[in-house]
Amino acid sequence: MKNFTYQRPAQVREALALAAAHDGTRYLGGGTNLVDLMKDGVEAPTRLVDVRQLPLKGIQLSPGGDLVIGATATNSDLAVHPEVRRHYPALSQAVLAGASGQLRNMATVGGNLLQRTRCGYFADTSQPCNKRTPGSGCAALAGEHHNHAILGWTEHCVATHPSDMCVALAAFDARVRYETLDGVSEIPLADFYLPVGDSPQRETVLPRGALITAVTLPGSAGGLRSRYRKVRERASYAFANVSVAAALDVHDGVVRGARIAFGGVASRPWRAREAEAALRDAAATPDAFRAAADAELAAARPLADNAYKVALARNLMVAVLTELTDRAELTDRAELADRAE
Ligand code: SF4
Repeated sequence: MKNFTYQRPAQVREALALAAAHDGTRYLGGGTNLVDLMKDGVEAPTRLVDVRQLPLKGIQLSPGGDLVIGATATNSDLAVHPEVRRHYPALSQAVLAGASGQLRNMATVGGNLLQRTRCGYFADTSQPCNKRTPGSGCAALAGEHHNHAILGWTEHCVATHPSDMCVALAAFDARVRYETLDGVSEIPLADFYLPVGDSPQRETVLPRGALITAVTLPGSAGGLRSRYRKVRERASYAFANVSVAAALDVHDGVVRGARIAFGGVASRPWRAREAEAALRDAAATPDAFRAAADAELAAARPLADNAYKVALARNLMVAVLTELTDRAELTDRAELADRAE
């Protein structure tokens, strides 16, 4: 590991000033990804600005009813927060599906947004990798890629985004708040991650030196029945082959609204807009769910060894939506029984 300086500012402005003054600065949250990459020689910051003591840990409702999640809240705090569990259950489930308890106790919300791909070639400095070394090539294209992307990739990079949390955030239309010395900005998560294009090393729209300070969840997305499910290669501590976050609004057997996002299929959380459009005002039936999944996955371009992900994504989405619909019917029946008593 290369030498670096380490600083612990107490205020956001101080952190921003430190980053602005020094090109090789990286912000340090829980360090659960960055420190590993530093040990592997993939990342070599010359200054680490530790952000964990900044006043950004809170999770609270805004006066307008949005849920504001501080960027240094830990993944554990987020998963068990009463507002999250009650109004955005898929987010709590997604966070709990990621990593181990020890890692969740360390990892921060802001760091989770910025974690790097777990493509094995990215972490192996003996291999070509456009994301690590632009212009060097992509070893995964002709190599091991069974868990790589089926949507939105280019020949420059076929890696997937590793986060579970971000898949649920995408389904709930989260917004990312960040700060620079020029002020505070907020951007929809849908616009936060850049398409792969020919520059896979550029992953987000964050300006240089910007610090993520919060993630906001719209109050209007809360309260829907929602669910996160993840298929992985072992029972724990594994990244998704495919995951689905979904929230469903069903009345009298008809879908009034659906929010669906996939994980494990693209370089960023994949919001399933085609599927959502196909479901609007459709009967809430497995046939409709299958047709919606097919509409979304028509754009899939599997690699030689990951065509299984297309069927997996389709089946997982249908299973999650069916489960949400069954639960809705059970709840409706319980409500009717309550009213009858
Ligand atoms: Fe690098 Fe992306 Fe290719 Fe993996 S898929 S080797 S991260 S360029």
